[in-house]
Amino acid sequence: MTDEYRRDTKLVRGGLARTSFQETSEALFLNSGYVYDNAEEAAAAFAGEADRYVYSRYGNPTVTMLQDRLAALEGAEACLATGTGMAGVFAALACQLDTGDRVVASRALFGACYAILHDILPRWGITTEFVDGTDLDQWRAALSTPAKVVFFESPSNPMLDLVDIEAVAEMAHAAGATVIIDNVFATPIAQHPLTLGADIVIYSATKHIDGQGRVLGGAVLASETFIKERMLKFYRQTGPSISPFNAWVLVKSLETLSLRVERQAASALELARWLESRTDIADLRYPGLASHPQHALAKRQMSNGGSLVAFTLASGTESAFRVLNSLQLIDISNNLGDSKTLACHPGSTTHSSVSADDRAAMGIADGSIRLSIGLEDMEDLKTDLDRALAAI
Ligand SMILES: *Cc1c(COP(=O)(O)O)cnc(C)c1O
Repeated sequence: MTDEYRRDTKLVRGGLARTSFQETSEALFLNSGYVYDNAEEAAAAFAGEADRYVYSRYGNPTVTMLQDRLAALEGAEACLATGTGMAGVFAALACQLDTGDRVVASRALFGACYAILHDILPRWGITTEFVDGTDLDQWRAALSTPAKVVFFESPSNPMLDLVDIEAVAEMAHAAGATVIIDNVFATPIAQHPLTLGADIVIYSATKHIDGQGRVLGGAVLASETFIKERMLKFYRQTGPSISPFNAWVLVKSLETLSLRVERQAASALELARWLESRTDIADLRYPGLASHPQHALAKRQMSNGGSLVAFTLASGTESAFRVLNSLQLIDISNNLGDSKTLACHPGSTTHSSVSADDRAAMGIADGSIRLSIGLEDMEDLKTDLDRALAAI
């Protein structure tokens, strides 16, 4: 979609490709294969001489609508949608890394992202140096040696550390590295990493993009050169493709993304302020509050503080469990970005595969709780949290 339209118009109409039936809503093409008029046409398609769909592992019209809408939203030249966020992370890394390559990454990562870099890629001779993503001196030291890829999340899951995207991208490029950012926590509404120098943006569409707890999905957004020349062949041959049905749910979800995310962020800010005023909570983290150690950076690179809030209870796992078990409205769930407010204990769930030492280095304490703020009434959320915190 051309750049003449603004964000909210692109969210509703970007990528729309109507069929000859002139349907209003995006059509769901729930098909795995395609047919050819004759054998020559099939041969031409496989020889790359005809621009047409051949198999839904390669491409599908509903998936294309999702990809085009996401690319328009992100301001990216190209997009490949994947079956999950992790399929996107793995494909974006594996399609460009060779044995002997070096990755530099921030340590504060989603557990599965950390596992790919820390446990899986080393089996193929690809090593990762982890740094404290908040510390530009550590990035500078690590990037004084050439690297192939720089990988980070900002804000990070779950403790909401930020990375200075512009500064790190500049150092990464000087070291010869491609910059990949997992932008899930910021959402495509609040942060535009490509304008800050990142090369590849990844989403778990399972989170805010669906935002209603229904389907898994992911997306990789980058230049046309990267997508077409680097990733497409890997994607077609290894099959991280998304189901057309899930793509259809997600393309419709994008229509309401800004409404949901902006409301969630406003509620998260109000709730964070309210939690911060309590004495039973230590170390409340929300990028939109002045108390966040990187609040100035948050204001520079994000248009809101996001929908996630993290806090730590001084008394450890037992009291964190007691608070979670005392919630009556807010659900215990490791998902996030949902219209339902969700709470989790990262140490025993999303980050249980990370060693205790590494968890501590990421700032995750035994008493840490992550809240994903949904769309419920604010007073009902406060009442529920007040009751749960009274249990300790
Ligand atoms: C959930 C999540 C992922 C993985 O996405 P899936 O869709 O669950 O595969 C990756 N990164 C971050 C930051 C996440 O929160």
